[in-house]
Amino acid sequence: MEVLAHTRDTKRLSLITTAVAALITFLLLMTYQYLSGVRQLDQEVRSKAAIIATNSAAALAFGDHKAAYENLGAIRKTPRILGAAIYQADGSLFAVIDDPQAQFPDAIDPDSSDVSDEKNDFITHFVREEITQGGTRVGSLLLLASQKPLYLNLLAYAGGLIVIGLIALLLAQRFTASLRKKMALTEGQLEQMALYDRVTGLPNRRFFEYELKKAITRVKREGQNAALLMIDVDDFKKVNDLCGHPMGDKVLEMIAGRLKSVVRADDILARVGGDEFAAILFMVGEPENVDALAEKMIAAIEAPFPTEPIPSHVGLSIGMTMMPGDSDDPETLIRWSDMAMYEAKAQGKNRAQFFSEDINRKIRATLHVEAALRQALKEDAGELYVAYQPQICAQTRRIVGVEALARWTRPDGKPLSPAEFIPVAEKTGLIVDLGAWLIRQVCSDLIWLKQQGVNVEKVAINVSPRELTRGNAIVENACRTIRQFGEQISRFQFEITENALMAERGADVLDAFHRSGFSLAIDDFGTGYSSLGYLKRFQISTLKIDQSFIKRLPADANDATIVSAVIQMAKALGISLVAEGVETDEQAEFLTSHSCDVLQGYLFSRPLPREDLAIFIARHSATNTAGT
Ligand code: C2E
Ligand code: MG
Ligand code: MG
Repeated sequence: MEVLAHTRDTKRLSLITTAVAALITFLLLMTYQYLSGVRQLDQEVRSKAAIIATNSAAALAFGDHKAAYENLGAIRKTPRILGAAIYQADGSLFAVIDDPQAQFPDAIDPDSSDVSDEKNDFITHFVREEITQGGTRVGSLLLLASQKPLYLNLLAYAGGLIVIGLIALLLAQRFTASLRKKMALTEGQLEQMALYDRVTGLPNRRFFEYELKKAITRVKREGQNAALLMIDVDDFKKVNDLCGHPMGDKVLEMIAGRLKSVVRADDILARVGGDEFAAILFMVGEPENVDALAEKMIAAIEAPFPTEPIPSHVGLSIGMTMMPGDSDDPETLIRWSDMAMYEAKAQGKNRAQFFSEDINRKIRATLHVEAALRQALKEDAGELYVAYQPQICAQTRRIVGVEALARWTRPDGKPLSPAEFIPVAEKTGLIVDLGAWLIRQVCSDLIWLKQQGVNVEKVAINVSPRELTRGNAIVENACRTIRQFGEQISRFQFEITENALMAERGADVLDAFHRSGFSLAIDDFGTGYSSLGYLKRFQISTLKIDQSFIKRLPADANDATIVSAVIQMAKALGISLVAEGVETDEQAEFLTSHSCDVLQGYLFSRPLPREDLAIFIARHSATNTAGT
């Protein structure tokens, strides 16, 4: 819209500029023509006057009227000179020709050369030339000159100019018309580019925001309501990665087509981001109708898209707000719909979700946790510490290592569970700083424990998939810190989840961990996707079978079968097996009898701060020694 207004203004301005320039040129040319015409005419009359005056001196001296008339007759060859008269030295008229209207005075002032009083109007004027003989004035010559030819000339000149101007204008008009036609095409393309998405042909974000403002005004004016939907395509990255970007664009085009078939012609559908669409649905009545329509959109996307090498399946996460019910401010509506959309994603994707105060509160709480964690990491004033959960050898019941787990006690003394702050740290990227802090803290705790006479054989540290996406920096940082504290790399094991094996850049980082001498464990084994191939490829040394499989042991036959099969498989691959979440003697008994290597769980100890760990290890080795 702004583009159009701008080009209209430019057109008007260039028209005015051309008109003013043409007018100024015309006036300048006319003025020049007039001045040069006047000068030329004056010169012509004066040179004629000089000749006649010279020739008439003798006639005057001898009082020869006949000769005087003959001399005066020379003016007839010059049409601009209408009449002529010769005056004697005393100013009295001597001879006159061509004066039917008696314009020549009977006498003139012999002492003054000014003849303007006599005759000097717009058309005609007198030119006076003194007649001399031997240096003495013997009379005067008066010529009546006409400006008429000059004006006629000027008129013809102006006419010519106008005709030439008109022809030039006509030609220019033709030329600019064809130029404008071409420009209109470009303007159209510019407008299309500025307001519409190239891939889907739908309005883009800019146009959509403009339409949203208009929609709010419209619903308020008509006393109606409308809904704003922010629609995100779930897992679209998968399509791009698997099928390439050109195919990804085709899928987006098809998604746009399917969404269009669901909304009404009056509604507005736009592509507002890479894999994000937005819709304004008018006159929707009850929110249930909006919900139903969102479900229709989700259903429309359900059928796979025909892509190569395999068909693509995607879903939609939709966030919804009502206008003016929820708000009549466009920015708030977009923000709240976005929040609802993120909530729909968090709830498992491929669903629609209305904005609510609950969502608002939840997001605010997340933001609050993020800010507080950032602060806690920056100040490092003891709010964060590391708890260590002992890992016990199933056969000997000796402590063979610990798992380091982050702990956070807020300034009000309340602990915040990792289940609450780790996901926030992962989402915001703070997990990278938290991970770096944790390695430093573990190193410093190991030194403290050594000073207490406590030696810890092995420490397992958790790594999030997000940390792996940053590349080898995490490995380099871990090596540097461990060396700075004079610790041994071989004492450290990094725990990653199965899905992290497939994370972006994950493979490179895991190789780097391995090359640097760290051992790797798969955490929560059995809850994600992994293959035996991966276990071999990444030279995994430990599998930690997830606590959900341990929970119902030994009574649950299914879980018992799975656990014993995993143990057998690990044994066959030469991988050590840790059982997490061991809480009862029966579970420990079952696992030990099925040759599980290491047990970890509340049965032995909860995760402990370093002081309590020192006491636990001292006591444990004392009973173990006493027992042996
Ligand atoms: P995880 O790595 O699987 O850690 C084991 C979790 O199980 C710990 O929860 C531990 O307290 C809990 N647990 C241990 N024994 C038992 C038991 O017998 N019964 C039950 N019900 N639970 C038991 P926690 O400390 O709350 O940590 C939860 C998760 O948070 C961890 O799961 C880990 O994935 C993540 N996490 C904790 N600290 C860090 C960290 O420093 N970095 C990263 N990236 N993740 C961490
Ligand atoms: Mg773990
Ligand atoms: Mg685990």
